[in-house]
Amino acid sequence: MGLKTSNQPFAQRLAESKQDIFMQKAVAKAQDDQWVKREGARAELGDWQEWRKIGEHIRQHVLEHLPHYLEEFSDQVAKRGGHVYFAQTAEEAQDYVKRVLVEKNAKQVVKSKSMVTTEVDLDPMLLKMKDVQVMETDLAEFILQMDDWDEPSHIVFPSIHKNREQIRQVFAEKLGYTGNNDPVNLARCAREEMRKFFLQADVGITGCNFAIADTGMINLDTNEGNADLTISIPKTQIVLMGMERIVPTIKEAEVLDNLLARSAVGQSLTTYVTFAGQKKAVESDGPEDFHVVILDNGRSNALGTEFQSILQCIRCGSCLNVCPVYRHIGGHGYGSIYPGPLGAVLSPVLGGYKQFGELPYASSLCAACTETCPVKIPLHELLIAHRKVMTDELKLQHGFNDLQMRVVGQGTSIPALFKTALQFDHLGLSLLRHKHPISVENMFQYGGFIKAGPGMVKGWTDVRDLPVPPKHSENFRSWYKKHQAGEEHE
Ligand code: SF4
Repeated sequence: MGLKTSNQPFAQRLAESKQDIFMQKAVAKAQDDQWVKREGARAELGDWQEWRKIGEHIRQHVLEHLPHYLEEFSDQVAKRGGHVYFAQTAEEAQDYVKRVLVEKNAKQVVKSKSMVTTEVDLDPMLLKMKDVQVMETDLAEFILQMDDWDEPSHIVFPSIHKNREQIRQVFAEKLGYTGNNDPVNLARCAREEMRKFFLQADVGITGCNFAIADTGMINLDTNEGNADLTISIPKTQIVLMGMERIVPTIKEAEVLDNLLARSAVGQSLTTYVTFAGQKKAVESDGPEDFHVVILDNGRSNALGTEFQSILQCIRCGSCLNVCPVYRHIGGHGYGSIYPGPLGAVLSPVLGGYKQFGELPYASSLCAACTETCPVKIPLHELLIAHRKVMTDELKLQHGFNDLQMRVVGQGTSIPALFKTALQFDHLGLSLLRHKHPISVENMFQYGGFIKAGPGMVKGWTDVRDLPVPPKHSENFRSWYKKHQAGEEHE
């Protein structure tokens, strides 16, 4: 799968997403539920804005001193007896993991949820390895694996697009499950499958929420306990992390854990907050062979640029949960494993404008994402910055936005032309009036609605009401003119 999840053109993905009413309802419900939980959990902390400032400061400080903290972390891992590998690309990360598995003669690999492993397309590589079996152990990821490695649609709730009956059908077909669609029974079925596998596993692969520079440990925030089993049962652990996911000490991790759990799932803390590293001789558990793969894969493109702040992201998913565009098109519409406002900014940074140039336009620029981001990333400004780079520097064309907006821009910048257009808007748009007005009251008030506008107006009328503008003699400009003339006479 990798960073790019679909080769379909963006317009086609959008058209498919628009038809998926189940997905839209599921996303809307999740967004609404999360809103209540998230706001409650944030209020508990006291001055949320102060916490955001501290979170922003920590992330900015780390990015300003990234080489220093990466080196310190790497030294500390080595001091405990572990290994750090810096991977420039997804292929380098894959190769390293493969080398470790071959060296260990691994047969069974357990994975706990990690966006970075999806970004580097690890699963297909593992599946191609002869004699190696792999199992995703996060429940949502397990469901996707059972459904022939279906694509995740949210960074925190990857199978948000499936309902319990769909999951029951998948389990019945792939696991021989005969029970009902009660989530408790479905979870029990998944757990039984996983437990058998866990006990045999020789290598565990996890992501990492934060890597702690001064101890060489990693911090994982999870709710299901599968990450803890992934770390503690297999003798070998491989961690894959983006190079920006580092904090100076456990104190900063504590602040970010607070921000993350509240923003991601509306909890004070996740059920399991785990710190792990290479097992020392005096310790009773933990991996005996500990490897950390630190991935660049395009992240350094953002360092020192106006896009650096996107690397502050702690992957809470809160920006997805407030985004009106994500609400309508869901995760798959973006065609990137990082959807929503985060993905619309990050994907072009990692994969370039050629692959992801449409995404910065998949936004209403309402700035709800910026408002909710716990580490104060100015997401809507970064979306505008991407558009600016594409139009001003790269001169890239993006259909509607470039051509039609230029025509609109030129028309509205010539006062006489604009005034003339306003004289005829009522007449012109009346021709497209809806045959069955939505209500009598609206009919009188606005003169009816337009059913399906032409060209770029269609994008609006497909999903919103567009009233026919009032006659020229009744519109605001005309009223204002008369009003002003009256005042001057007094
Ligand atoms: S950009 Fe901000 S709100 Fe969005 S996932 Fe990252 S940290 Fe969370």
